[in-house]
Amino acid sequence: MSSIPTLLHLLFTTILLLAIPTLAYQPLSDTQLKAVPGPIESDFDIKTGALLAPILIPRVPGTPGQAKVQKHFVDFFTRELPEWEISWQNSTATTPLSGNKQIPFQNLIFRREPPWTKERGPGRAALLTLVAHYDSKISPEGFIGATDSAAPCAVLMHVARTVEGYLKKVYEQGVAEGLGKEGREDPGREMGVQILLLDGEEAFKEWTDTDSLYGARSLSYEWENTPYPALSRFKNPLRQIDLFVLLDLLGSADPGVPSYFQTTHWAYKNMATVESRMRALGLLESKPKNPFLPEAGKLNEHFGRVYVGDDHQPFMAKGAPVLHMIPTPFPHVWHKIEDDGEHLDLPTVRDWARIVTAFTVEYLEAAGGEVGAGAGTGKEGKGEDTAAKQGTTTDGEEKAGAGVGKGP
Ligand SMILES: [Zn+2]
Repeated sequence: MSSIPTLLHLLFTTILLLAIPTLAYQPLSDTQLKAVPGPIESDFDIKTGALLAPILIPRVPGTPGQAKVQKHFVDFFTRELPEWEISWQNSTATTPLSGNKQIPFQNLIFRREPPWTKERGPGRAALLTLVAHYDSKISPEGFIGATDSAAPCAVLMHVARTVEGYLKKVYEQGVAEGLGKEGREDPGREMGVQILLLDGEEAFKEWTDTDSLYGARSLSYEWENTPYPALSRFKNPLRQIDLFVLLDLLGSADPGVPSYFQTTHWAYKNMATVESRMRALGLLESKPKNPFLPEAGKLNEHFGRVYVGDDHQPFMAKGAPVLHMIPTPFPHVWHKIEDDGEHLDLPTVRDWARIVTAFTVEYLEAAGGEVGAGAGTGKEGKGEDTAAKQGTTTDGEEKAGAGVGKGP
């Protein structure tokens, strides 16, 4: 494993060397897409995979299996991503099965933000927020929930490790430019990533407003009610969510994820474009009948009010923009004992890892590119990498780029 960071480092160095400043949102170039590191096959082995295998056990809230999986996540970030801040958000609740007994629900938050925003206190960085639930359903007995949501959790671990290679460079450059010092502000580059592994998504007895989403309800409530100091850029942690990308029920072959929300269709289209470009470039290994994301061309009038109840709901109700990555129809193994490692389609799992990673890198590139500061991005190089590295950008470029690429 020790060779991996070095490899990532080299690959991202390649991306950065190819970079020139841009004025506006730019998709990753073909060269950049190809350079985004894909998953190591062995990470997703269902018996021995360093990322996936330890999650493929029953992990019901408050049980030893769940504690093991929590340790797996924390150990991974502690060992491989020491720059990421780890925090827990705990709550307890009774469930329809627990009588008077309080069951613990423990959300895990892994956050990486620019050093200059961190130094200046909380509430400055906008955060691309990638989410999956890690609890498993209490029944049927022995249920492992491979698609629900062990595989999405493993995918997010891969994403974190891969984007770190990119963020490290971008943040080092920001520090070198003196961002955050002596009033040097650049809100367009105050962008970080957080990964939420949520607890208690599953109902214990039957899905109702109170028997489901235990972790998400508690976290969204706490975040909305924890104000930042008066001069912070964001009012509270909930407002820091730039986009809430929820992965759920992923890992079966031939998924079809619709675009659920008109307000975030711009993000869906970006993800769908990443998929179709990667497929055209031969960077994906699955051979689905249809694209994973088939609705890039969905018309405004075709967005209805129908959506799937899931962890995004309490966040969305409080104003967070949501991209819900859940297939319709659900995998045929859904909530059955067959939702186990053997029923995963691993090429599909690894392709999700590739697509979400590339989307994340592109999203962060867009944040850097908006201010044209050469933190990364855009088209293939024309020998202007020196200018990019030195950040030779004018104010005019900064204004021209602001706000592009976010929003419909
Ligand atoms: Zn479920």
